[in-house]
Amino acid sequence: MVRIKILSEDEIRRSLMRISHEILERNKGVDDVVLVGILTRGAFLADRLARNIELIEGKKVEVGYLDVGPYRDDEKRTDVDRSSINFDLNGKIVILTDDVLFTGRTVRAALDGIMRRGRPKSVQLAVLVDRGHRELPIRPDFVGKNLPTSKTREKVKVCLKEIDGEDAVYIVRL
Ligand code: 5GP
Ligand code: MG
Repeated sequence: MVRIKILSEDEIRRSLMRISHEILERNKGVDDVVLVGILTRGAFLADRLARNIELIEGKKVEVGYLDVGPYRDDEKRTDVDRSSINFDLNGKIVILTDDVLFTGRTVRAALDGIMRRGRPKSVQLAVLVDRGHRELPIRPDFVGKNLPTSKTREKVKVCLKEIDGEDAVYIVRL
């Protein structure tokens, strides 16, 4: 197994700061903007984007966490829902956040989870890494890094300080 570092701590920080600026630019500020992070690592990324936005704009944005387990269409479907979205999604611009975008099936499930809770004005997708190989018509609005990968022989390892003790993105050759 070979592991190559693709993003360092500094590069992750800069990417997330750039994405924060892009979110503000696209939406002309943060009125009606809320962040929804997909558990687990997408939730920490949503928290970080919210902190950046507060630093840049001086305004707090709501952050919720979505468990896509109950909405999955595959063997990973679960019955427990660990989501925590304690605000109204109706009429909001939802920035859906995840660490890695691959086939798009997780995002499809997340959209299901969001729509069941309300009717947002729009949903935009922010991901730290897009590794390609989509199986559904889903594309990100905000991307940290486009990382072409082999569908079967490579994986991306995203480490975040909150749970992994370091900030880094690796490509792992299996
Ligand atoms: P998808 O549903 O688009 O196939 O995969 C995206 C979801 O699976 C994300 O929530 C992501 O965390 C996880 N995932 C898929 N491929 C990878 C990968 O190569 N590395 C990591 N860290 N997560 C992945
Ligand atoms: Mg995930």
